[in-house]
Amino acid sequence: MKRCSQKPNSVNQNQTIRHILHVVALCVAALIFVSLPAGFGILRTLDAQEALAFKGRISAGRINKYIYANSALWEYQANRLSEVAELPGTDHSLFRQSIVTTDGRIVFSDANPLEAPVAAHREPLVIDGQVVGHLRIEASFFAILMQTLFVLLNAFVLATLTYLTIRRWPLALVDKTLRELADEESKTHQAMHLLRQTDVLLRERGEQLVAAQKLGRMADWTLVIGDEKPFLSTIALWLLRMPEREDTPTLAELIALAEEDGAERLEQLMADVIRGGVMLSIDIRARRGDGTIADLAISCQIAARDGARVTQIQGTIQDISERKDAERRLEQLAFYDPLTGLANRSLFQRQLNLALVRAKKGEQPASLLLIDLDRFKEVNDSLGHGTGDELLVRVSQLLSRTIPKDQFIARLGGDEFAIILFGERSRERIDEVAREVISMLSKPMQLGRAEALIGASIGISLLPDHGASADELVKNADLALYRAKDQGRGRAVFFEQEMNRLIQHKMALARDLRAAASEEGGLEVWLQPQLQSPGNRVVSFEALMRWNHPVHGYVSPAEFIPIAESSSIICDIGSWIMRESARMAKAWIDAGGTPYEMAVNLSAAQIWQSNIEEDVAAILAETGLPPHLLCLELTESLLADHAEGRVRRTLTGLKALGVKLALDDFGTGYSSLGYLIQLPFDKLKIDRLFVSEAPRSPRAREVLQGIIALGHGLGMKVVAEGVETPEELALLQEFGCDQLQGFYFARPSPPAMAFAYALRTELAKPARLPAPAIISAA
Ligand code: C2E
Ligand code: CA
Ligand code: CA
Repeated sequence: MKRCSQKPNSVNQNQTIRHILHVVALCVAALIFVSLPAGFGILRTLDAQEALAFKGRISAGRINKYIYANSALWEYQANRLSEVAELPGTDHSLFRQSIVTTDGRIVFSDANPLEAPVAAHREPLVIDGQVVGHLRIEASFFAILMQTLFVLLNAFVLATLTYLTIRRWPLALVDKTLRELADEESKTHQAMHLLRQTDVLLRERGEQLVAAQKLGRMADWTLVIGDEKPFLSTIALWLLRMPEREDTPTLAELIALAEEDGAERLEQLMADVIRGGVMLSIDIRARRGDGTIADLAISCQIAARDGARVTQIQGTIQDISERKDAERRLEQLAFYDPLTGLANRSLFQRQLNLALVRAKKGEQPASLLLIDLDRFKEVNDSLGHGTGDELLVRVSQLLSRTIPKDQFIARLGGDEFAIILFGERSRERIDEVAREVISMLSKPMQLGRAEALIGASIGISLLPDHGASADELVKNADLALYRAKDQGRGRAVFFEQEMNRLIQHKMALARDLRAAASEEGGLEVWLQPQLQSPGNRVVSFEALMRWNHPVHGYVSPAEFIPIAESSSIICDIGSWIMRESARMAKAWIDAGGTPYEMAVNLSAAQIWQSNIEEDVAAILAETGLPPHLLCLELTESLLADHAEGRVRRTLTGLKALGVKLALDDFGTGYSSLGYLIQLPFDKLKIDRLFVSEAPRSPRAREVLQGIIALGHGLGMKVVAEGVETPEELALLQEFGCDQLQGFYFARPSPPAMAFAYALRTELAKPARLPAPAIISAA
């Protein structure tokens, strides 16, 4: 605003000065123009008049003398008079003398009339005191006029020059000054502007600093040593949420805000800084003015000294609650299971290592309990994952309630939990805790509208006896857990060194099995006939694997198949036995024999680990066996697993190849009628258990009859396994079972024998045949 009003002002001044200068210049010019010629003219005229008067007096004196002497006739002596009056050097064009008598008669005139303007002077002519006439003396002032005009001309030029000079020169000077002034002014303006900008910038910077401090939640403080109150910036008070009050808080009041051991650490911090002279900082937890808890980072350094003595310290306070919260959340994420809130495997690993170190030093014994939920998969599958999660949360709550707070509980993943019991040495006491956990987890649990009945198995290893490392402790507890499940679940089993030997043995077997599978050495296909009922003719064989181990002799498939299943070996040996069986059946047909169906066991692992449809199709194409002569036996355990969709797709794919599907060991596992109805099975194989129980128990008989009826109801053929006695046979025949398999007819035997047996049933059509002499290794 100021700047804007100044410009017109200077313009006005400028104008006024110009105006004044114009007037002054005009006046001076006018003065020169008027005074010079006027002065000249007047002086010259006066001078000329005086000269005229002087001449007139001289002339008149001479004439008076003459006329006095010739007083009577002077009037008639014009020529003589003109001689008397003649003044030497007179120019008659400029000068004229005349004598005029009193009565007005011109006695003489020495020249013609003069060029105007003319000046005249009269001198009396006296004779004896009596005026007789006048001498009239005239002069032409034309020259003076001309001269004056010339002077006027010069004066005009001079005046003009003067005017211009006066107008221009000072004005130029003024202009220059004004320009300089304006320059000065604009510079001042610029400076002012810059100053204002700087001021704004500084103010903004200041505000930004405050904003940055607020944003960074950082404030500063200063303390003069000996003062009871430190200086705190307003942001510091804002950070600490201190109520607005007249007197700022004292150092003691501030220190008292610290939680836990914060107060001592703060005092220590200041003492260390004063002593050591370096900058230090600590993180503390403190109660804010409004009662909430904050994490604060406090830094401290020396601000001033008096000689060696520290007189002032200063530092910052930063509210790092958000960062600390994030760190705590991260820690929560890193070390805690998000679902149950229990410690996760990482934290478990740490705790176990710590516990092992203490146990090894003899400070505190401990035990590790690995818990595996029984039937969790079934609940998860039948009731859905949401309910499964709810179940896991419930289990974690039950565990937390049962296990004392000073003990450690973790969820290791899936349905696997772990407990570390600290300080307990007695096996009885540990066993008691384990059994308490089992019994608590074995009670029915209400999950939403459903009720779940699970259970738990526990494997226990002791620290430090059962492992030199955390890994070994876990591995050994796992072995014990395996044993617990093996012994029928719902048990707690302590690790024993013998379990280790067992696993060593299994590992050695796995190694040998891999060699046997790859080199095709030691593995054999044995066949067990399946007879049609009624009729008792062999219609099919079940291919059962045998392993003739170079050292251990025949190893039971019940032992080595699970080992093979835990690795990819099962896929190799699975397709090997399928190929061998198909090849044999086809060769039998090609040799003119009766077409027999070949039943091959398919492990769940084969479905998960390989593309079984492709394998089967390749084997059929390769061997040329008609697809309907290949039957794949699958157990219910496959169906209890998660991926229902995948199982369904695979079975449908296999079915599309034209092969048959049999549900093996029906009744032993987790039976879902839903599956049975939906999945494309052709056969139902009743487990040996139902067959052997039937003759003894009426209830088992009813179940057996029911299963057969169910199979038929669903359009399946029903096969009975493990037929050993005539009673069992009689019941199965009575209930209308379609096919029979068991030691009563024939044990599994090398293919040649099995075919020979089949041939005999065809030829003799016997009601009952003796079993071949070879005893199965099973
Ligand atoms: P599985 O599929 O249930 O096979 C029937 C088992 O019952 C055979 O045992 C057979 O020898 C036995 N058995 C047959 N009749 C009788 C009887 O009257 N009384 C008694 N007590 N037992 C009888 P094996 O051959 O030891 O096979 C055991 C299990 O090993 C099989 O049970 C099957 O699950 C598995 N297995 C055998 N071979 C293979 C194979 O090639 N692949 C896969 N995946 N599993 C196989
Ligand atoms: Ca089978
Ligand atoms: Ca079976």
